Amino acid sequence: MGGRTLHGRTVDLGAQYFTVREPAFARVVEDWRERGRARPWTDRFHTGDGQQLGAAKRGPQRWGAPGGLRSLVEDLATGIDVRQQEPVQSVRAGAAGPDVDGVRVRAVVLAMPDPQATPLLSDDVAGRPSAAGLAAPLDHHWSPTIALAAGWAARRWDVDGVFVNADAGALGWIADDGRRRGDGAAVLVAHSTPELAHEHLTTPEGAESTMLAALRSQLDIRDQPQWTYVRRWRYAKPESTRDEPYRLLDESGTVGICGDGWSPAAKVEGAWSSGDALGAHLVERLS
Ligand SMILES: Cc1cc2nc3c(=O)[nH]c(=O)nc-3n(C[C@H](O)[C@H](O)[C@H](O)COP(=O)(O)OP(=O)(O)OC[C@H]3O[C@@H](n4cnc5c(N)ncnc54)[C@H](O)[C@@H]3O)c2cc1C
Repeated sequence: MGGRTLHGRTVDLGAQYFTVREPAFARVVEDWRERGRARPWTDRFHTGDGQQLGAAKRGPQRWGAPGGLRSLVEDLATGIDVRQQEPVQSVRAGAAGPDVDGVRVRAVVLAMPDPQATPLLSDDVAGRPSAAGLAAPLDHHWSPTIALAAGWAARRWDVDGVFVNADAGALGWIADDGRRRGDGAAVLVAHSTPELAHEHLTTPEGAESTMLAALRSQLDIRDQPQWTYVRRWRYAKPESTRDEPYRLLDESGTVGICGDGWSPAAKVEGAWSSGDALGAHLVERLS
């Protein structure tokens, strides 16, 4: 749900919107809406073949956030003692309880993709490949995406979002960030296909000219943008799903992994539900 402040405003570069199905998540979203944190964005997106736009199609209500989607994560953390530090290097489990980088803790939640969690786990934690006898290894793969943000002086298009046919080439998705956030800025965000991202994984800037040309072609924008920004998401989307909502990785049940890889669909709501379920388990286990 990451974004970046570009030319004075936040731009959503990762997740593009969220949808709501389950009542528990709907209550969280309603609270955000009442406090002006989240806003219904649109239920209509176009399709595109790289050149022409198809008719707009209705789907579920998509939600955005005036302050960017990251602001919703920060809102959930309000009142909680959050301390950030350098990336965690190791998580160990033991008879006396787990530890994180050598500091004893009551419980550990790894809310991240398998390829980021696995290197942290010591042999006494079941997700570790060398301890694969204890549980299925955490070996799901994630595919990458490159995000391109571009700003113009004025809006030259009339779409909220476009699902671009991946066979058309470089792009899979285009969004109007100004309409999504509700401030009207003439800013577009495009996401590459996983194939293009793989090609430019080490130097994502190398994908910019191809992505910009595809974006302008799809929306028939004649002039160049005033600015652009490129960001790589190495672990954008799990390539497979799981039915388990989370997994406990040690025998004491106090080290767990959750996130969008632990849901039937890799979405914001799936990540929230997975974390909520693991949190509920830990509260019960520790109280
Ligand atoms: C390009 C893109 C587009 C998307 N579009 C949509 C969309 O339109 N709608 C939708 O619903 N969802 C979308 N998603 C999916 C949505 O963003 C994810 O489902 C959700 O954000 C996953 O949350 P998470 O907490 O499981 O994991 P993540 O958001 O991946 O968070 C994992 C966190 O762990 C941190 N971390 C990793 N290793 C360490 C370490 N060693 N120490 C400390 N921290 C560490 C990472 O820095 C990261 O902050 C999109 C995702 C991407 C990338």
